[in-house]
Amino acid sequence: MSDFSGWEKLSLVDYDDNITTTLFMAGCPFRCPFCHNAELVLHPESAPKIPWAEIKGYLEKRRGVLDAVCISGGEPTLLPDLEDKCREIKELGYKVKLDSNGCQPHILRSLIEKKLVDYIAMDIKNSKERYMSTCGTKVDMAAIEESVDLLIHSGIPFEFRTTVMEEFHDEEAFEKIADWVRGAKRFYVQRYIDSGGCIQNGFHQVPIEKARKFVEILAKTVDFASLRGYDE
Ligand code: SF4
Repeated sequence: MSDFSGWEKLSLVDYDDNITTTLFMAGCPFRCPFCHNAELVLHPESAPKIPWAEIKGYLEKRRGVLDAVCISGGEPTLLPDLEDKCREIKELGYKVKLDSNGCQPHILRSLIEKKLVDYIAMDIKNSKERYMSTCGTKVDMAAIEESVDLLIHSGIPFEFRTTVMEEFHDEEAFEKIADWVRGAKRFYVQRYIDSGGCIQNGFHQVPIEKARKFVEILAKTVDFASLRGYDE
């Protein structure tokens, strides 16, 4: 599949202060039970196909209005022509932000080396020990660890982020995550919202006091740690 399947034409929350348009692709090797994009992940074959020419036309008309394009999923590194698309977006003068679960470090490495991406947001689903149970499937942990290491040493702006749920995350897990990502620049602890359209519903939000404790733990080893999505 080389088409995008979803498009949020204007977003003010996906990439710092940048005015962004966000593209979603279908398909992902993970099955995180809390995934909000269940249809795109479980049924990529029946996902809509948005013509690239339509997206490019939109970007051409909005030069100087939009700042950036966020490529999200699903897992965007599965897109066979991701590099070409990033190149075309950058040739139009936009910054590129990529959301990834880190399952394909060689793709991330190539994009970074070719300067085709400006910012990467990578999910850290849980401590290494709990990773597979949190992702709902077998995971190549060596690949995830390679992506973490790559980003920490990449020199490009990036963030790690964890969407937290009572059923999966506790202080013990965050002590291990903090040790794992030591030296990272930014880490966000994100509030889980049960939108009703997840792969599996019924998980519970972590209360803000507990989420703050996770941030405190991370702040011992990363430059900047913060909550995201909580009313502070
Ligand atoms: S990695 Fe992301 S897109 Fe894939 S199943 Fe998990 S939450 Fe969904």
